[in-house]
Order: sequence, then C-alpha cells, then structure tokens
Amino acid sequence: MRFLPVLTVLSLTAAGLVVTSAPALAGDRQPTATGYGGAVATVDPTATAVGLEVLRRGGNAVDAAIAAAATLGVTEPFSAGVGGGGFFVHYDARTRKVSTIDGRETAPASATERYFIDPADGLPYDFNEARVSGLSTGVPGTVATWESALNRWGTRSLASALRPAAEVADRGFAVDATFRQQIADIQGAFGRFESTKALYLPGGAPPAVGTIQRNPDLAATYRLIGRKGTGVFYRGAVADDIVRTVQHPPLAAEPVGTWAYPIRPGVLTRSDLAGYRLRHPAPTRSDYRGLTVYGMSTPSSGGTAVGEALNIIEAGQPTLHYYLEASALAFADRNRYVGAYTAKPVLKKLISDDWAEQRACTISPTTALVKPVPPGDLTGTGCATATAGAKVEEGQSTTNLTVADKWGNVVEYTFTIEATGGNAMVVPGRGFLLNNELTDFNFAPTQGTAPDPNLPGPGKRPRSSMSPTIVLKDGKPFLALGSPGGATIITTVLQVLVNRIDLGMTLPEALAAPRGSQRNSAGIQAEPAFRTRYGPDLTRLGHAFAADVAELGAATAIEFTRGGGFIAVAEPVRRGGGAAAVVSRR
Ligand code: GLU
Repeated sequence: MRFLPVLTVLSLTAAGLVVTSAPALAGDRQPTATGYGGAVATVDPTATAVGLEVLRRGGNAVDAAIAAAATLGVTEPFSAGVGGGGFFVHYDARTRKVSTIDGRETAPASATERYFIDPADGLPYDFNEARVSGLSTGVPGTVATWESALNRWGTRSLASALRPAAEVADRGFAVDATFRQQIADIQGAFGRFESTKALYLPGGAPPAVGTIQRNPDLAATYRLIGRKGTGVFYRGAVADDIVRTVQHPPLAAEPVGTWAYPIRPGVLTRSDLAGYRLRHPAPTRSDYRGLTVYGMSTPSSGGTAVGEALNIIEAGQPTLHYYLEASALAFADRNRYVGAYTAKPVLKKLISDDWAEQRACTISPTTALVKPVPPGDLTGTGCATATAGAKVEEGQSTTNLTVADKWGNVVEYTFTIEATGGNAMVVPGRGFLLNNELTDFNFAPTQGTAPDPNLPGPGKRPRSSMSPTIVLKDGKPFLALGSPGGATIITTVLQVLVNRIDLGMTLPEALAAPRGSQRNSAGIQAEPAFRTRYGPDLTRLGHAFAADVAELGAATAIEFTRGGGFIAVAEPVRRGGGAAAVVSRR
C-alpha cells in the first residue's frame, strides 16, 4: 500500500529512526534496484522503505526483515500478520549455514481427522463455511518467529523492530486499488463481524481509494508485544482475546452484505496457545546444475516439490515442456506422500537423483503426459507408479519478502494468514485478522486406499506450499526468492528458477515473464500472456490449458553479483507491482 511520503518522514522521525535522510524510496514502486550495501524486496513500498532504513542504520538482514514484515502486517493485513504463520529461511554469512524457522499454525489439541466433517450430515464442510469460522484458525506462529529470528541472528530488540510498523499503523497509509478490491472481494464475510466491519467497512462499504487507513489497535498491540514480549501474545491478554474470538465469534449486530453460511465457533483453547512451539527443521537441499538449492521442509511441501521437480528437469531437458511435466509429477508425489509427519527417509528419497530418474523416465520429449499422472511407487524401480490420487488445492493469499545485508546474510521469508482476509475476524481491540490456515488440511481423504498425509490431527500443522528458497553457488549466495499464491507458489518459484538458470533470462525478466502452472491437472493454469506466447508450441506437444487466470504469484527475489552487488527484484505488475530497493546505487 502506498504510504504518504510526508507521513513516512514524520513517523520514522517520531520512531527515532530517521531524521535527515528522509526515505527517498518510500512510496516508490520500483520493481528492480541494482547496487550495494544491502537490498530489500517486498510487495509494498512502505515495507521496503522501512526495511531499507533499518539496513541503512546498520541493522542486519534479519533486523530489516522483521521490521519490514511487521509493516506488511499493517499495509498488507489481508495477506499476512501476527494472526498467521510462515516459514523463515536464513543464510548466515559467518557460518555459511542455511537454517529455517517453521512458524506454521498448529491445530488445537482436540482436533481429530474428522475436524472438518459436519456432524450433522457426515459430509465435509464447504471450503468457505470452514474458512469463515473459528474452526479454521490455528495457533499463530508469526510473533514467535519474529522473536526467535531476532534472538538468533538479529541485533535489534523485538520492540525496536516493531516500532516503525506501529507508527505506520497509527498515522495511516493511503488506500490503493488493490487494498480496496481485497476488501470488496470478501465484504460479505467481513460484514458479519463487528470488529472487522468497523475497521475495514467504514460506513458499510470498502474505503475509497486515497483515503487514509489507520489501525491504532494494531499499533497498540505491537507496542504491547514490544514492551512485554511474546508471552502476552501466547499466555497473556492477547491470548485471551484470540481464544474468545475463536470460541465466540464477534458477530455484528447489523451485518453488512450477505454471507451464505452459518458462523461456527472454534475449539482453540488457552492451553493450545500457551503450548505453541516453533520448529527448526533442517532445510531441504538439492543440487541443480552445480548450484545448491535450499528450501523449506515439512510441514511445507515447497522444498521437496521444488527440489524434486528441479532434479527431474536436470535428468531431462531444460525446457518449459520439462518444467510442466516435472511439476505435475512432483505434485502427484507431494499429494500422496508429503504432510507434517512424513518420515525423513521418504522426504530424502523424494529429492534424490535416483527418484528423479525413476520419475523422469515417464516423460517423453515429444508428447505430453496425460494428467493427472499417478504418484511414483516408493518401493518400486524403473518407471513404477502407484495408483492415482485426487487433486488437492489451496487458496491464494500470503506475502513474501527477500532481504540481504552488506555482510552477506540473507533472509527469505514467506508468511500468511491463508486466504485473502484469513477467517475474516479481526480480534476485537487488537487490530489483526485471524488466520484460516487449518483449511490447508484435506477435509477428507484424497488418496483412495492409500493413507492421506494431510488430514487434520491434534496439534498437527497443515501442509503448506510456501517455498522460500536460497540458492548457493560455491557455498555463497547466488539467488534468493519466494512468492505467495497457494499451491502455485511451488510452480512460480520453480518457473523463475528455470527462467533464470536454464532459459537465459535475467532475474528481472525471469520474474516478469508470464506464468503457467501445471499441478497435475488436466490443463495448465496460465496467465493469458503465457498461453499467447507459449501455447502453440505446448499444445503441439499435447499440453492442454485450463481457464486462464489473471495472475499467478507475487514474487520477490535478490541475485548476488560479483563484488558484493545485489539485483533486488519485485513484480513489475502483479498485485499492483512490488518495491525493490538497495542501500546504495554504487
Ligand atoms: N496457505 C497456503 C500455504 O501455506 C498459502 C496461501 C497462499 O499463498 O495463497 O501454502
């Protein structure tokens, strides 16, 4: 969202962050920035400006990433915030080690496999009925992630990292067309809750473009967390408010608009919140054309799916045809085998070269496979496959940021509240939306007679597609990237990698290029320009297309060039365009 430059100067001054060098890049939706001294790329100019300012003042990549993330919680509140979760991937320049934080939301201890089955008729709830309910909310992991990242690798306190974002929330930012449209799209659900209505439907309608959107409750929440630490969120007053909201949704006395479903309360308890624990799984690792690709392990399927598909392409040919075939095969395997509790040897096998050979041997260079393809057979050899499963999908929201500092540390962070607008409930008095992440579980078994790895369970984390990825060359950063977009995150990250590494594009070209996504469905889901540009050749090979989608993903990335340089890249057009910035041009 566009933050008025004059307010930026005031707010950052008040925060004690900036006095003279008014953030020249604030409000600047520049998609590419090349230079030195550190770099930031997010979907939002204000968040990018806040992150950049932290770098300019000597903060490292983690300090800047958390300050930018907290700002996104204000300006991109329908995609991410403290009511949600995410995955944080970090490269430490000193130890040359890639580490991760799994801040994924967690199901209540009382959840069972039948969590999303309506007891009244024994059938799964409709997605939207489950989504806009207390049932869809998992224990948020974002605040804990920020604290842990700062403690491990940062140099600033959580209070200091939250301060600029609190200022933005207090002083406000100008509503743009994307922000307004996101509210309009979910108005019927937002209008059911008093707190959400008050914040985002002033006068009963989405705010007009250009009006100033403020969120003093969120500013106060950030300051409270800054003062008291994350205990207040997981065990204190904020925890109480989250539990009350989930168990007794704050229904509006006079709803705005219509919503077709009853609002069901959830079962999340105070002890679920108090019991929240981050995980720190080893990153997934695969080699691709001499590069080392690090990604996020379970409960995200991103790392294994991207790694497996790259291996299949490497065993085949560097073309869009192989990209599409490899992603269909990787999705079949992900749907069958990957969930929060997938055993390590299985994950290892899925990103092994042997497995890639076994899967690649089903691809013909001249004829597209008929989709859906069955998953591979873990116990088989040759081209052995198992029986087919059903297609599984997730929603489209989320945000992603990429930050690097002058010391060579890198952060790739994707975080979300799941669908755009989460479960549609703003926690009264706290200013943030709750996630609907638990709808990323499969509501009912999808794999026929084979076990489904992604059914709900007590304290379980739903499978994700988020794919924050850091690529090293000779042990040093070469590329970092990630994107929102539900299950299309995996294909967006994969396609940008293939565009950059195999198809001769620069990084800005690789991000801007039209996208197509084959997730093991009959047809490729594509942006119109993808079909126009590549459709004839792909159709000749037998690929089919599903209905077009306006856009896929909203990626950010940084490439590391010789001599400590950066090419920071955000989207030129998608989601209204993102913002990339560097500390110094020279
Ligand atoms: N909930 C999704 C996931 O974890 C992300 C939502 C999205 O990007 O649309 O994969």
